[in-house]
Amino acid sequence: MNNRSDIKSYTLKELRDILANKNIKPFRANQIFGFVHKKNIRCIDDIPVLSKDLKSKLKECFYIDNIKIAKRYDSKIDDTKKYLFRLRDNNIIESVLMKYKHGNTVCISTQVGCRMGCSFCASTKQGLIRNLTSGEIADQIYKIQSDQDLKISNIVLMGSGEPFDNYENVLKFLDIIHDELGLKIGYRHITLSTCGIVPKIYDFADKKLPVTLSISLHSAIDDDRKKIMPIANKYKLKEIIKACEYYINKTNRRITFEYTLIDAVNDSKKNALEIYELVKGLLCHVNLIPLNSIKESDYSKSNKDNVKRFADVLNQKGISTTVRREMGSDINAACGQLRNNYINQD
Ligand code: SAH
Repeated sequence: MNNRSDIKSYTLKELRDILANKNIKPFRANQIFGFVHKKNIRCIDDIPVLSKDLKSKLKECFYIDNIKIAKRYDSKIDDTKKYLFRLRDNNIIESVLMKYKHGNTVCISTQVGCRMGCSFCASTKQGLIRNLTSGEIADQIYKIQSDQDLKISNIVLMGSGEPFDNYENVLKFLDIIHDELGLKIGYRHITLSTCGIVPKIYDFADKKLPVTLSISLHSAIDDDRKKIMPIANKYKLKEIIKACEYYINKTNRRITFEYTLIDAVNDSKKNALEIYELVKGLLCHVNLIPLNSIKESDYSKSNKDNVKRFADVLNQKGISTTVRREMGSDINAACGQLRNNYINQD
């Protein structure tokens, strides 16, 4: 009984193989997968098409993991909703639902905490607690869909955690969420954000999934980047850009560069010109994010004029650049901030 595994974390192929070993036919795997991933069925007993005997047999080996909404914050300005979810082991993660004209987008977490150590980010302040399973990553979407009675069309892996530090489970999640028996979300509607773990960029490119890859730059100069992103000690910007070129060649997809603007740290005109020099000639887009200041660090948000100047410099030089719209500013809490506040209350 104790060795039971979570059905939600298996890809359809894995489930078929595991069930085949138990002499259960592949069409049963299809049915179970559909009920778990499309219909958000919460336990094996609730799968209507299975016989009592088969349910008992399945329950000996499997369970269906469900994350629970611990708290929801509703924006009164733009309908953005932030969720804190409680996991089976009582860990807490956060996700965000944003309603755009082009569809409902969720920003989901891939790890409990993070070990990347970026100095301006709240998610990493208590280090990495653990990786999320592929089922827990997907379940954030299922639980938001059923809570709001809507369909999610876009996913961004930009919540807590570094997706490439939980690579296998993230790949499984992508397979599950794209499966036509599940939510069937197109890869083009999924964005994966990484701080730039170079070997994984190559590996991911070789998978040739047309996912939008987003790279967190935050500086175009290695020595400056090292001051805010410890991962810069491991991988040089030159290596990251080479890996991005490889990704673009393999997938034909435009890369997004994220750049969090921090007052007097990386928001000068010179910094913008440095970014231009770094990314010119690449099929890319730059997304500027005015810093969401967190209480664990002294950084503050760039002022509006500096944000505008930064965007103007890049746009005038032909680099497509936008400033990320702030969603839910009345419930505004930076990545990981809601979770930290919630845990500290306990
Ligand atoms: N580990 C991934 C996902 C992180 S969250 C990555 O590094 O890309 C997505 C983006 O939000 C990253 O670019 C991250 O650097 C940025 N971010 C984190 N904390 C922030 C804050 N307080 N204000 C603005 N952007 C922040």
